[in-house]
Amino acid sequence: MTVEALSYAIDDEDHLIRLDQGFYRFAEENGWDGAGDSLGRSLWDFVAGHEVKKLQRLLLRRIRDEVRSVELPFRCDGPEVRREMEIRIAADKSGRVVMFSARLVDEEERDEPQPLLDPASPRGEELLTMCAWCDRFEVGGEWVEVEEAAARLELFRRDELPALDHGICPRCNESLLAA
Ligand SMILES: [Zn+2]
Repeated sequence: MTVEALSYAIDDEDHLIRLDQGFYRFAEENGWDGAGDSLGRSLWDFVAGHEVKKLQRLLLRRIRDEVRSVELPFRCDGPEVRREMEIRIAADKSGRVVMFSARLVDEEERDEPQPLLDPASPRGEELLTMCAWCDRFEVGGEWVEVEEAAARLELFRRDELPALDHGICPRCNESLLAA
């Protein structure tokens, strides 16, 4: 990956008001559809999953009310890479504009590409829950890395992959609530 950092900001109504070059390049490298038209749109158009939205709204409210910042690790994996990142979310002095700055901490090539993480893979009706924060998957009540999920679900035997449902695992839930 060539993008090491990206940032964006939202106004008091959660609309995207500033996007840097890193954002656009990252979006392009990761196949985010329509990223070129992101400016002015609601941040929530880009957050998948009800639970995820709820938690992030809570976090943003606290950051604004207390006019402060938080730093959190998160994962932004691709089919071929495992990517550890860190995001800083900070309110400006008014507490209304919030700036998000993400940077790459570590990136590792996978031994095998993981089609589960490829948005272009064909999907069936079955739903598999993925943690939107740490990119792990829930299989039989346990949260596991993508390689482990693919092995346990015997995905190599299947013609189509399960569709993804974005949620939050208990570990990330706790760290977001404590941030
Ligand atoms: Zn998680």
